Amino acid sequence: MAFGYRAGRYCAEGVDLTAIAEAVGTPTYVYSRARLEERFTRFAAALSGLDAMVCFALKANSNLAVVKTLATAGAGGDVVSAGEIARARAAGIPADRIVFAGVGKTSDEMTAALDAGIYQFNCESEPEISALSALAAGRGQVAPVCVRVNPDVDAGTLSKITTGKKGNKFGIDIDLIPALFDRVRALPGVRLVGVSLHLGSLLNDLAPYRAAFQRMADLVRQLRAAGHAVERLDLGGGLGVPYRDEVLPTPEAYGALVRETVADLGCRLIFEPGRYLVADAGVMLARVVYVKEGSDRRFLILDAAMNDLMRPALYGAWHTVRPVLEPLQDAAEQPVDIVGPVCESTDTFAQGRLMPPVAAGELVVFETAGAYGRVMASSYNTRPEPAEVLVDGDRFAVVKPRPLIQDLFQNESIPSWLEGSDG
Ligand SMILES: *Cc1c(COP(=O)(O)O)cnc(C)c1O
Repeated sequence: MAFGYRAGRYCAEGVDLTAIAEAVGTPTYVYSRARLEERFTRFAAALSGLDAMVCFALKANSNLAVVKTLATAGAGGDVVSAGEIARARAAGIPADRIVFAGVGKTSDEMTAALDAGIYQFNCESEPEISALSALAAGRGQVAPVCVRVNPDVDAGTLSKITTGKKGNKFGIDIDLIPALFDRVRALPGVRLVGVSLHLGSLLNDLAPYRAAFQRMADLVRQLRAAGHAVERLDLGGGLGVPYRDEVLPTPEAYGALVRETVADLGCRLIFEPGRYLVADAGVMLARVVYVKEGSDRRFLILDAAMNDLMRPALYGAWHTVRPVLEPLQDAAEQPVDIVGPVCESTDTFAQGRLMPPVAAGELVVFETAGAYGRVMASSYNTRPEPAEVLVDGDRFAVVKPRPLIQDLFQNESIPSWLEGSDG
C-alpha cells in the first residue's frame, strides 16, 4: 500500500505522515517511490513487445528525485523548455531518450537541445521548422523532427486542457500536413522522422484516442505514398487517473488500442505520459490552522493555499481530503468549506465537502497530488513554496526543502536612486 491508514494514521508506505509533518513542517508534498515504480512498470508492460519508448512528461512533476526514480525504472523524458532539458540530464536521462515539445521554442532553447544532442524535436509550426533548420544547419547538425499534428478530435475533456481540436494553438491541422512535408523535406539541418500528437488530458474513454490514432495511421500511409520515410510515431500522453471515483481507461486497454490501430505501421512508437505516472504517487500534507463557524457554513482554514496546490483554483479540480488521524468508523460527516489563507476567493480547495470532524491543529492530506502540484506552486503572498519528501519503505528524505523567507526576496534590490529618497 503506497498511501492509506495503518494503525490509525495516514501513512506513505511505511512512514506515518505525522512524523514527516514534525520533521519538515507543512505544507509538504510526499511521494512514494514504490508507487512511482509500479506506475511506470505497469505502463511499460502494457506496451511490451512493441518498439516503444516511454518518455515521462517532466512538466507534471520535475523534482530530480522523482525524475531519477522514473529514469532508473527505464523512462526517457518529454521536455518543454531548456530548463527541463537541464533537469532531465541532471536526473540521469540520456540525451538520446529526450523529446522536446512546445509551441514556442526559442532559438536559445533549440541551441540547448542541439548542444545536448536530444532524440527528437516535436515541432508545431512551419516557422519553427525553418528556424530550427537555419540554426542546426549553421552548426553543421541535422535535427530529427517530428511534426505535431492537430488531429481535430474532440477529446470531450475539460475545456481548459483540451489540445487536439481544430482551433486551439497546438500542432498543425492534419489536412495541412502532407503539403507541409513536401515543402520542408529539402530543408537543410532537419530530418523529418515522423509525426506526433497529444490529446488533452483526463479522457473518460478511449474513443477520442481511437479516432486520433486511426487518423494518424492514415496520415502515415499517405505520407509514405508521397515518398516520405515516416519512421516514428509519437502518441503523446494524456492517460488519466481517478481523482474521485471516475472510471478511466487502463493502460492495458490503451495498449490494446495502440496494437490495434498503429502497431502494423512498423514505426518506432513514442509515449509521453505525465499525470498517469505521478498523480497518485503523491499527496500534499497540510495542517488545519482554524475551524471557523460561519452563519451558514463551517470553514477549515489550512496552512496550505492556492499557491501550494493550484489545481482546484485553476480548473475547479477535485482532490480527496482526509484527516491524518483515522476517523472513527461511525464518525458523522459534515459539510465544510476547505480554504487557504490567501486573499482571493478562488483560494478554496472545496465547498460543502463532507468531512468527519477535524479539529484545529490536525493534519490533513490531499490525495492524488503528485501531478501538476508542486510544479505549479508559487510564492504568491510571499509564502514559501511547499517542501517535497520522497518515501522509500520506512525511510524518507527531503528532496526539496521549503525555502526560507529571506530566500524569497534576497535577489531583489532597491536601486541607488531610490535608496536616498525619503518617500
Ligand atoms: C502535457 C503534455 C504531456 C503529458 O500530459 P499528461 O496528461 O500529463 O499525460 C505529454 N505531451 C505533451 C506534448 C504535453 O504537452
